[in-house]
Amino acid sequence: ESKHSDKPEFLQALTEFFPTLEPYIEEHPEIEDYNILELIAEPERLIQFRVPWEDDEGKWHVNLGWRIQFNSALGPYKGGIRFNPNVNENILRFLGFEQTFKNALTSLPLGGGKGGSDFNPNGKSEREVMRFTQSFMSELQKYIGPDRDVPAGDMGVGHREIGYMYGQYKRLNRPEPGVLTGKPTNQWGSFGRTEATGYGLVYFAENALWNHNERLSKKRVVVSGTGNVSTYTVEKATQLGAKVIAVSDSQGYVYHEEGVQAETLKKLSKRGRGALKYYTELYPEAEYFKDKSVWEVQMKYDIAFPCATQNEIDREMALNLAENCKIKALFEGANMPSTDAAIEVYKEKNILYGLGKAANAGGVAVSALEMAQNSQREQWSIEEVDERLQVIMKDIYTLCSETAKKYVGDQDNLQAGANIAGFARVAEAMIQQGLV
Ligand code: NDP
Repeated sequence: ESKHSDKPEFLQALTEFFPTLEPYIEEHPEIEDYNILELIAEPERLIQFRVPWEDDEGKWHVNLGWRIQFNSALGPYKGGIRFNPNVNENILRFLGFEQTFKNALTSLPLGGGKGGSDFNPNGKSEREVMRFTQSFMSELQKYIGPDRDVPAGDMGVGHREIGYMYGQYKRLNRPEPGVLTGKPTNQWGSFGRTEATGYGLVYFAENALWNHNERLSKKRVVVSGTGNVSTYTVEKATQLGAKVIAVSDSQGYVYHEEGVQAETLKKLSKRGRGALKYYTELYPEAEYFKDKSVWEVQMKYDIAFPCATQNEIDREMALNLAENCKIKALFEGANMPSTDAAIEVYKEKNILYGLGKAANAGGVAVSALEMAQNSQREQWSIEEVDERLQVIMKDIYTLCSETAKKYVGDQDNLQAGANIAGFARVAEAMIQQGLV
């Protein structure tokens, strides 16, 4: 612990994870014999580089770039690139660690990695983003490849940035579409990748609810964020008959009793970050609350989907969700949106809790399908991808609940189930490979 005391989010990811493994470790003494816990918490490789770029006024700037190649026991390193001023080694270690076990849960041949830069894309021109992204890739390209390390998008990195990154990779190497995922579909991207994390999250939730003879249909739902994951969570939840009564962004939240539509969020996203403040121009009957978290709102609803960012729900907010909102279930679209103290509240109050590692694995799963399509020089239809995604999310849910039943005697302890199942796959492969 003391080794990482200067990396709070990474430490939090470790403290969320390791205690839940105890019942598994008791039955598997080889984990301690090989000192796997210490080994698995260290990335295989951590690459840091400088990224010089020129703004439109001709002024030069320097940002930092990273790629963390966390674990390759199950396949090539795989995980997104995040452009955000808050990115640092601590954040990327936490994300790379989580990604390793998330990828393992998909049962697809994926190792774990993550990368990014402290570059702030907000307010930058197209050309500035292009110059920055090309400079970033000029260095990153030395360490990646279709069978080696396959980055994708994350916060601040969408189709546009992936397009620029691929162009630069191709210029410096050779045309290899499989080196990145999340590409536009006219450049060998997979249909359904944009929707995959949000849709997958809702499929996961629907499976968990079915197991309790419940359905999403007619449920009142709140989703945080208005970004990629949130928008497609709203879309699929609405398609399955739920009503999304509130959404948020970094500057406030909107309450709309008639139900928020994904199409509205897509329209607003064209106006840039923080665009939720314009929502009431379109729907005067809705209400906008500035500088407030949607998790502080006191109204009754059934299911919460945090889809914005890490640590957006603390203990007090979790108590509000349980006592005032009286939610029955919470499924995480974002990575680690709940603090450890918030998770304790979900347990105390019997809230069905879908841990992000499992519930938001749909995006990386479809990225793996994109890799498979690229290798085969094929492009599958949206129907085929969506069908596979549904099966993958059902299998992840089943794996988590069965593992939880086996090791902690409680099929609803999806946190323990996800952590143990993901860990077991990675640890077994590491031992079989002689711990390399
Ligand atoms: P986006 O950048 O598309 O959207 C992020 C959303 O969260 C925006 O609405 C943003 O608001 C809001 N937000 C950002 N910071 C805060 C904050 N401090 N408080 C409140 N709201 C905030 O990102 P994604 O949708 O791609 O990712 C969201 C989360 O899901 C991240 O944790 C990511 O790692 C995780 N994830 C993403 C996957 C994917 O496929 N994209 C896959 C698996 C996990 P604003 O518009 O005002 O900036």
